[in-house]
Amino acid sequence: MKSFVYTANPTRVIFGPGASSQLPRELSRQGLRAALILSTPYQVEDADRIKNLLGSEAVGVFSEAAMHTPIEVTEKALEVTRGLKADSIVSIGGGSTTGLGKALSIRTGLPHISIPTSYAGSEMTPHLGETAKGVKTTRSDSKILPATVIYDVDLTLTLPQTLSATSGVNAIAHAVEALYAPDTNPVIALFAKEGVRALASSLPIIGNDAKDRAARSQALYGAWLCGTCLGNTTMSLHHKLCHTLGGSFNLPHAETHTILLPHTLAYNSPVVPEVMRGLAEVLVDAEGDAINGLNGLLDRLGVKRALKDYGLKEEDIDKAAAIAVNNQYANPREVKQDKIRELIRRAWAGEPARADL
Ligand code: NAD
Repeated sequence: MKSFVYTANPTRVIFGPGASSQLPRELSRQGLRAALILSTPYQVEDADRIKNLLGSEAVGVFSEAAMHTPIEVTEKALEVTRGLKADSIVSIGGGSTTGLGKALSIRTGLPHISIPTSYAGSEMTPHLGETAKGVKTTRSDSKILPATVIYDVDLTLTLPQTLSATSGVNAIAHAVEALYAPDTNPVIALFAKEGVRALASSLPIIGNDAKDRAARSQALYGAWLCGTCLGNTTMSLHHKLCHTLGGSFNLPHAETHTILLPHTLAYNSPVVPEVMRGLAEVLVDAEGDAINGLNGLLDRLGVKRALKDYGLKEEDIDKAAAIAVNNQYANPREVKQDKIRELIRRAWAGEPARADL
């Protein structure tokens, strides 16, 4: 076995159907009595339900969380936090709302309790991406990590089926890259394989029945494990490419991850045979081939496979490939511009991934 370093991130995790009912006890355990609740406009009803649950221990709801954590929204929320004399932040929603919770917590020092309702995984990471004047910057700090994460399976029953599929594959991507990360370790490998197994087996069931509680439980459990992978290891080609394409061509986050994942894994496959074997074991119907397993999963989920469906133009492919190789980053295989161009072209066209890159 190779030598390794493993640092556990100190978040308390409460998991289960109806788990958000434990929020009042969790706040009082931490001596907190004035929570500000965050959500997107779309989930204001979820936020109001939490406010009612807390009664006088809630000081208000701020429901303007938005994608990519725009600084103007954070500043407005900061004023509300101070005006209401909040002593804690409770975020309820997907990665966008968790991001706002992190942005407020790192600025004020207030404890952040995150109630994630998608599979994005941000709640388990010390990373924060913020957008100012259209430019997104990312920073990491252990203080960004939420103090407590409450995974309430019931709150995920309303996650639309298409977003459940793409958000779930977004989570799988964290686990895939954790397996070949330069700082991977045996503990994270356990999390990663179990996370992929849980999501790959449950997402197609959710695709047929969004309210299937057992499948929703498995998927959220998988999302927690995969989020832990993201928070504990350095991501490579796949995440960098998604970041580049999302930032430069305004492509949607989870959908871009979903389309690219089989292709980026195919690119790295020649140099990570052990990872490929491990993934083939946990992907359903992979028949010994992880690329086959991922192609099949996306087919079963019925998600869009082509970046052109989200507005990427054919003439953008060269520019995207050039940006993708512009900065150096960790990747098990050398990143070559002509091969990355072909990878992006296949993803643009919606072709199934092949290991001949
Ligand atoms: P999102 O948070 O933007 O959610 C998309 C929409 O779905 C929102 O309107 C949201 O309110 C709604 N929604 C979420 N859960 C729902 C539910 N259960 N029922 C009904 N509606 C629901 O999207 P996302 O994919 O969860 O997160 C993406 C964002 O998170 C991106 O900005 C990404 O950069 C960030 N992110 C950050 C990290 C990190 O470590 N910093 C990790 C992953 C993602």
